[in-house]
Amino acid sequence: MKKQPVRTCIGCGTERTKKELIRIVRTPEGQILADPGGRMNGRGAYLCRDPECVRKAWKTKGLDRAFRETVTRDVYERLEKELIDSAD
Ligand SMILES: [Zn+2]
Repeated sequence: MKKQPVRTCIGCGTERTKKELIRIVRTPEGQILADPGGRMNGRGAYLCRDPECVRKAWKTKGLDRAFRETVTRDVYERLEKELIDSAD
């Protein structure tokens, strides 16, 4: 069987296959968005589909490190809300 590519959640640090994670993208225009389809252009980071991991990422500045820029609290809060809204 082919090995699934794994990515690390920037919140909790757990390695999971890509389909278990949600991609967060920083677009060339500088917007930071959830990218559930994983197809948007830009630098990507991955989070579990769990709002708790967004909160952990805020504490550890996971997105800041992934995108090498300062990410404001409202960006994290928006992503957290998107994950809550998209939860099954
Ligand atoms: Zn996680």
